[in-house]
Amino acid sequence: MAMLRNLKLSLLQASRAAGLFRVVRDSRHRTNQLLILCYHGISIDDEHEWAPGLYMSQDDFAARVEAIRRGRYVVLPLGEAVRRLYDGTLPRRSVAITFDDGNFDFYSRAWPVLDRMGVPATVYLTTYYCENNVPIFPLATSYVMWQRPGSRVDLPVGDGRVLPIDTRSPEARKRSHNALLLHTQNEGLSGLEKDALAARLAELLGADYGRLRRNRMLHIMNPGEARELAAAGVDFQLHTHRHRSPLDQHSYAAEIADNRSRVASYTGQTPTHFCYPSGVCMPEFGPWLATEGVVSATTCEPGMARRDSDPFRLPRLLDHSEMTGVEFEAWLAGIGALLPHRPIGFQPVDREGRLIIPDQTPVAAVGVGVSNESGDAQRVSSMESVS
Ligand SMILES: [Zn+2]
Repeated sequence: MAMLRNLKLSLLQASRAAGLFRVVRDSRHRTNQLLILCYHGISIDDEHEWAPGLYMSQDDFAARVEAIRRGRYVVLPLGEAVRRLYDGTLPRRSVAITFDDGNFDFYSRAWPVLDRMGVPATVYLTTYYCENNVPIFPLATSYVMWQRPGSRVDLPVGDGRVLPIDTRSPEARKRSHNALLLHTQNEGLSGLEKDALAARLAELLGADYGRLRRNRMLHIMNPGEARELAAAGVDFQLHTHRHRSPLDQHSYAAEIADNRSRVASYTGQTPTHFCYPSGVCMPEFGPWLATEGVVSATTCEPGMARRDSDPFRLPRLLDHSEMTGVEFEAWLAGIGALLPHRPIGFQPVDREGRLIIPDQTPVAAVGVGVSNESGDAQRVSSMESVS
């Protein structure tokens, strides 16, 4: 595998040196296509070392924006990019930049870079953890378990019960983390109860949970920060209120409505573009979204958007720490889709929306740490998988 990857990188470097990227970049083929970039987090501290598939250092991110500028790519606001994609009026070398979730680190790390370089961006904002501003439970627990390898502790979970937590290997850590998420779902814990549980876990492991709270690591930005960024020109769009994908139309529409009213109240504008939480995209979701007045939806399937792309299945390139600069430039130029790439590591779900966890029988699904605040026990179809 390593040999193949090295071969691929050498080939790319040779192609770039021979000027191939420049030729493709300016071809008619590339002109009719749009590269939509997808980011999750820009590290406040060492998040990219914990989850390199989701986080990037601020320096690495600045280098990406610099590569975009150097290659004279045209970064369009998402709404304009989608409109011109279907009108057939895209300028040469079109790119759009999107961020999922709306982390506080977008506010404190990504936006300063984008603002300095005059580059527009869209944030698909999930609003539950925006208003309930505590660390995002699945991420925070995964992070503190990663921080304290080699541990084996019993986490008290009430009624004299304990959940064994083992961080002595990545596999054990993953198993423990899954068991923890299932526990919180089965118990129907509220966001605040989960926050207390995460703090207890961190304390047992000897990790500093207070640091996450103080630095607002693994937090969503709050409504005031979203308001401030919207006034500064950041575009905010839809990502569901509770970061979940219910499998019945009524609940799905409620997620959109709950999310839309909040985003509109922060920004003063009605969002009409959507991004599937955790990339979970069932065939029926497109028509449901259209009914709700949504005009486009992006996935996490890598590729270039074309005029014949389904507007409710627009591909995006998830950029992350493990992608080299030359691979990123190949994608910008328009040849990235030709390269072999590994599928992204989102947690698979079955048709019923249940998590598929290897070496465990299918279990009920978990949202991104938001329990049934809405009252109805919705079936949800995904979670952020980052451990
Ligand atoms: Zn998300």
